[in-house]
Amino acid sequence: MLIRLIPFHDELDRSYLGRLMRANGLRTATEIQILIAQWAGLANKSRREAPAIELLALAAGIKLNEFVLAHSTLPFRRSITSYRPEVKHGCTENKDTLFISGMRVARDEAYFCLSCAQTDIDEHGMTYWRRSHQLPGRMACEFHESPLRFVNEKLKFYQSPMDCIEESISVSQGLANVTMAHDGIKRFLGISSALMSNRSPISPKELQLGLRYRITMLGLRTHCSQSGAPLLSDHLTNSFPREWLLSVFPDSANKRHGEVMAKVDAMLQLSVSTTSAVPYLLVYSALFDSIEEGLSALKGATPAIPIKRTRNHRRKPDDNLLNDYVQTRGVHKLMQRQEFIDKLVISAYLDNVGLPDLIEDETGLNLSAVLSFFLNRKSLSESAKIGGLSIDAFEDIVRKIGCHIQPILKKIAANVVVECQSPQQPS
Ligand SMILES: [Zn+2]
Repeated sequence: MLIRLIPFHDELDRSYLGRLMRANGLRTATEIQILIAQWAGLANKSRREAPAIELLALAAGIKLNEFVLAHSTLPFRRSITSYRPEVKHGCTENKDTLFISGMRVARDEAYFCLSCAQTDIDEHGMTYWRRSHQLPGRMACEFHESPLRFVNEKLKFYQSPMDCIEESISVSQGLANVTMAHDGIKRFLGISSALMSNRSPISPKELQLGLRYRITMLGLRTHCSQSGAPLLSDHLTNSFPREWLLSVFPDSANKRHGEVMAKVDAMLQLSVSTTSAVPYLLVYSALFDSIEEGLSALKGATPAIPIKRTRNHRRKPDDNLLNDYVQTRGVHKLMQRQEFIDKLVISAYLDNVGLPDLIEDETGLNLSAVLSFFLNRKSLSESAKIGGLSIDAFEDIVRKIGCHIQPILKKIAANVVVECQSPQQPS
C-alpha cells in the first residue's frame, strides 16, 4: 500500500519524493520509486519507460505536464533549447529527457528560507523545499526579504529543511541585499520565474532576429570578430555585480574586458544552444529595461523588428556631421564633436544615423570593404575578403549603413584618391 500525499504549493519534486519516502517509512529514493511503480501497476517498466517524475505525478494524482510545470525546474532549465524545442515540458513523447533530467536541480546547493520553514511548521506541522528558492541567482526569500540558507548536499532534499538547519550556511546579508536591490538581477529572476510557467521551450532560432536587432540598436557587437563596437560579453559582465554573476555564471570568472567569450558573443551564430539557458537569460536581462520587455522579446509577443534601411527609420544626420564623416573617412574616434560626451556615444549615434565606423587598422579594412561593396559593386564575400573581415563582421557593418551612404562614399573615395596621388605630384 502506498501512503499518498498532496504536494505543497511550489514544492520541489525532490522534496515531494522525500516526504513520500518518509511517510511510507522508507529510507531511499529507489525504494519509494519501486513502491509507487508497484502501486501504479508499472512494476515491470524500466525507469526510462516510467521516469521518477512520472511516478511522482501519479502519486500526486496530477497530470505529468502539470506536475512538471508546478514542481520541477525543468521548464527553467529547458526554457531555451535547440534540442527538440517543439516538445512541450513534461510531454510523454520525450521520456528520454524526463528520465535523464526530469528531476535534475538547477543549482548545486539546496536552498531554504528559515522564516518560510517556521511558518510551514506553524501552519502545516511540517515544511518542505520550495522550487522558487532553487532558481539560480536567488539569494533572498522574496516574501520574507531575508537571506536564504543552503546546504551543499542535494540528497538533503529528501529530508526536511528543519533537519538541515545546523549544518546549513546563510547567504551573506550583503549579497542578499544586493540581489533584492539590483535592477538587472531583479530582471533575471523575474524573467526566469516567468519562464517556469512557459509550457514549451523557446528555440534559439526564434530569438535571433529580434536579439540581433536589440544588440545592434545598443551599438554592441553581434559577433566574435574584431570590430570597433563593444563586446556583448563586456556589456553583460558590466551589468551585474561580480559576486552574484559568478554564482550563476561561473564561466565569467575568467572573463577579461575586451576578450571574446564565445558562449555570449557568438550567441547569434551558434546553431546549437548553450548547455544552460542562463547565458541567454543574462543577456536578455542586460539588454532590456524591464522584465516585461525582456519576456516580450523572448516569447515573441512583439514581432522582431526587421532592420530597415529607409529614410524614415533613421534620423537624418546634419550636414556638419556628414562633412566630418567625410573628412575623417568614417573613422568614429576621429570625430571630436563637442555635443558628444564620449567616444561610445559618438559611435552609437553615428551607427543610429546609418554611418558605421570605417576604421582601417589591423582588425580589418572597413572602408576598403564598404567601398568595394557599394561603389565597385563587388559581392559581399569578395568585399569582406578585401577588407580582411569575416562575413559576420562585414554584414554587421552593412546592416548599419543608411540609404544616404552613396554620395558620402563617393566623396570619401575622391579624397582617398587625391591624397594617394599627392606625393607623386611635382612640388
Ligand atoms: Zn521565506
